[in-house]
Amino acid sequence: MHAFEEHVNKNIHGLRPYQPGKPTSELARELGLTDIIKLASNENPLGPSAKAVASATKALAEGHIYPDGSGYDLRQTLAKHINIDAAQLTLGNGSDSLFLLTGQVFVNPGEQIISSQHAFAAYKIVSQVLQADFCEVPAKDWGFDLDAIANAVTDKTRLIFIANPNNPTGTWVTHQQLTDFMQKIPAGVIVLLDEAYYEYVNEKDYPDGISLQQKHPNLIITRTFSKIHALAGLRLGYAISHPQIADYLNRVRFPFNVSSPALAAAISAIEDTDHVEKSQLANRQGAAQLREALDKLGINYLLGLGNFITLDLKQDAMPMYDKLLTEGIITRPIANYGMPQHLRVTIGETEENERFISALQKML
Ligand SMILES: *Cc1c(COP(=O)(O)O)cnc(C)c1O
Repeated sequence: MHAFEEHVNKNIHGLRPYQPGKPTSELARELGLTDIIKLASNENPLGPSAKAVASATKALAEGHIYPDGSGYDLRQTLAKHINIDAAQLTLGNGSDSLFLLTGQVFVNPGEQIISSQHAFAAYKIVSQVLQADFCEVPAKDWGFDLDAIANAVTDKTRLIFIANPNNPTGTWVTHQQLTDFMQKIPAGVIVLLDEAYYEYVNEKDYPDGISLQQKHPNLIITRTFSKIHALAGLRLGYAISHPQIADYLNRVRFPFNVSSPALAAAISAIEDTDHVEKSQLANRQGAAQLREALDKLGINYLLGLGNFITLDLKQDAMPMYDKLLTEGIITRPIANYGMPQHLRVTIGETEENERFISALQKML
């Protein structure tokens, strides 16, 4: 025991690090495999737009210069694209960094953060880091129970995290549900609506978060370049909020929290609408391909949105996860989300999906 151990913040002692999907290189080392597919981290199998890559590469040549700390050009591009004011935008090093920034602005130790059972793991980590009291409201049909969450609000509640759709369940709330919910939430409580999979969604009663945000200044929406824009490795996300909240978030963030290659790539990624549409189409087709095959195999799954499918195996998922690894297929066990019988599978390219399906067939 080192002397400094006694000074480690007591919440940090209890903190378990976020468990990412197994990296391809790790499985290659462990099993000596070469032909590996990773369907574990909801990455876009098409990879980034060639235009985004070109822009990032160009920015790298000027890597000795600090990035534009305000991200002016990207915020202008985003503002025009979303039809909001640039002053409503805050850029983050991944949207997960915006969860922490929001908590740092609004939550003091001992105050309360609410989310749902089976919700995205980052929310609880943020809560623990901030020494907040994390209230995990029981899920309904694996998803967010907004009525129960509204009922859980106390005068200590400062922040509510809602992932829509949620990862790892794919469950989602409708515009009407979210509208009713916002009416019940005190105006001083921040609601962070995490829309990491926004661009994949094609449902007509999916919430119009921007219009709700205009009515409710306590609503913050976060989105990311990690998913449909396939720039997960560059780490870039953004928050859409009331300008005054953006002002506070900008005070807390470090001045150069987003790199210049990421800023440059993101502008091109937004402008490359062909690539976005191609990614949407590939995901829709992949989802249909997987669902059809799972139906044939008699494997249950949650009917969710996003670029992944969550299998409901009705038994411990680890044996199947391990067997898939030996086939060179990395999926995501989610026992740490309280779902030991489920396995989350990212929708891959047609051939990747086929390979996953034939591996399943072989096992059953
Ligand atoms: C992937 C994901 C994110 C995105 O995280 P980044 O930090 O932007 O890469 C955020 N929320 C949810 C629910 C996710 O699944």
